[in-house]
Amino acid sequence: MAYVICAPCIGAKELACVDVCPVDCIQGGPDQQQMYIDPATCTDCGACEPACPVSAIFIAAEVPAKWHAFIEKNAQFFR
Ligand code: SF4
Ligand code: SF4
Repeated sequence: MAYVICAPCIGAKELACVDVCPVDCIQGGPDQQQMYIDPATCTDCGACEPACPVSAIFIAAEVPAKWHAFIEKNAQFFR
């Protein structure tokens, strides 16, 4: 299980989540439309979820159906 960044981050990239993540697993370069969470490093601490001003972050089990593709999209960024 890990937290996942979904569609509301696209174009927003406010980076508030990056500042609160204790293991530095939220990444995304300047050429990326959004930020991503590394599922292999995320400790499920939950700190990022309330920090996001656009509510883009969900624990994997609670990602809305319309955004399920983002679970793979986050993981893929780190391969
Ligand atoms: S705080 Fe929200 S909008 Fe900002 S980078 Fe993180 S997930 Fe994206
Ligand atoms: S749940 Fe915690 S460890 Fe995982 S991305 Fe969010 S702040 Fe980082």
